[in-house]
Amino acid sequence: MKCRAAVIRGVGQDWEISEIELDPPRAGEVLVRMAVAGICHSDDHLYTGDVLPTAEVRAATGIPEPDWFPMIGGHEGAGVIEEVGPGVTTVRPGDRVAMSFIPACGDCRFCVNGQSYICDAGASLFSREMPTDGTCRRHLGDENLMAYGQLGTFAEYAVLTERSVIKIDDAVPFHAASLVSCGVSTGWGSATVTAGTQPGDTVVVIGTGGVGMNALQGARAAGAKYVVAVDPVEYKRDSAKIFGATHAAASAEEATPLVSDITAGVMADRVVLTPGVLHVELIPMAMRLLRKGGTCVVTGITPYTEAMVPLVLQEMVLSAKQLKGALYGGMNPRTSVPLLLSMYQAGAVKLDELVTRHYQLDEINEAMTDLREGRNIRGVIDFAGV
Ligand SMILES: [Zn+2]
Ligand SMILES: [Zn+2]
Repeated sequence: MKCRAAVIRGVGQDWEISEIELDPPRAGEVLVRMAVAGICHSDDHLYTGDVLPTAEVRAATGIPEPDWFPMIGGHEGAGVIEEVGPGVTTVRPGDRVAMSFIPACGDCRFCVNGQSYICDAGASLFSREMPTDGTCRRHLGDENLMAYGQLGTFAEYAVLTERSVIKIDDAVPFHAASLVSCGVSTGWGSATVTAGTQPGDTVVVIGTGGVGMNALQGARAAGAKYVVAVDPVEYKRDSAKIFGATHAAASAEEATPLVSDITAGVMADRVVLTPGVLHVELIPMAMRLLRKGGTCVVTGITPYTEAMVPLVLQEMVLSAKQLKGALYGGMNPRTSVPLLLSMYQAGAVKLDELVTRHYQLDEINEAMTDLREGRNIRGVIDFAGV
């Protein structure tokens, strides 16, 4: 079948609305009609090239040179199952689903251990071939297309492995399901599961956009007494109060005396780093915001051009501080999506308030500019007819 999709052809190139060709779903695959796609900062990292390892980094780490373009963007989304291939058991045509950019297999040692965010199937996230049988379904002319996170939600339809979709309750609105599929789980999990926030903690969240706002919510739900939102954008600092921030600061420097004051000099129990782009200079400042024995969680993406991190290692040792990386907040899509959506239905998590603006697919470049300029907490694309 043919449908419209937003495709990026290379770093620094605008998104193009193209007519793509999708093959029918094969064994273990589904065809989804997209209802809503969320626009996450990770989509913009393709345009800026921040997620592409430099030649220097490739030489040092052995990461192969990426061959990612052309790519269908988008890794947050929700829609309706239109068709299923042979052997699909978890969804049927007509089911509403959230997408997950981690196609958790359920069988590898990490999935079985409750760490499906690092599922072995993650190795296929940036591959043109389907994780199911290693052949391609998405085409543009005679080229096979990549799909971001094996999803490509910036398209009217998507052919996905069954492992990339999670059935949701019929009463859940699509925009809520879409938000939970990446940004909400990532932020919430960063403050709860990965940071390990305890009742009475003081938590600092640096960068309060579509991910960080949910770190604020998670920290409050875990019982933090003070939650400090740090963001240079005034509108985001103001909005942070809706999501549980008790204090706000425009920068990590500005937050330092504030945190010292509210903790009587002890400093924060947890610091969560969720900026759109994480520049390495933030790391030593974040570690200084942390009390001894505290935990700093790195969730935002650092450009590969900033490979070296200035870090006072003695301070880490002598003050027993931890610096931890978090993918998907350390949550498992198959548990976090239904959990957070049920909390939303119960009024315990705010999702509607995250959506700043709705766009049509054709407005993708405008939506990306708004994201880059800090105008949105979350922009979403609405697809017609679902
Ligand atoms: Zn994302
Ligand atoms: Zn797995």
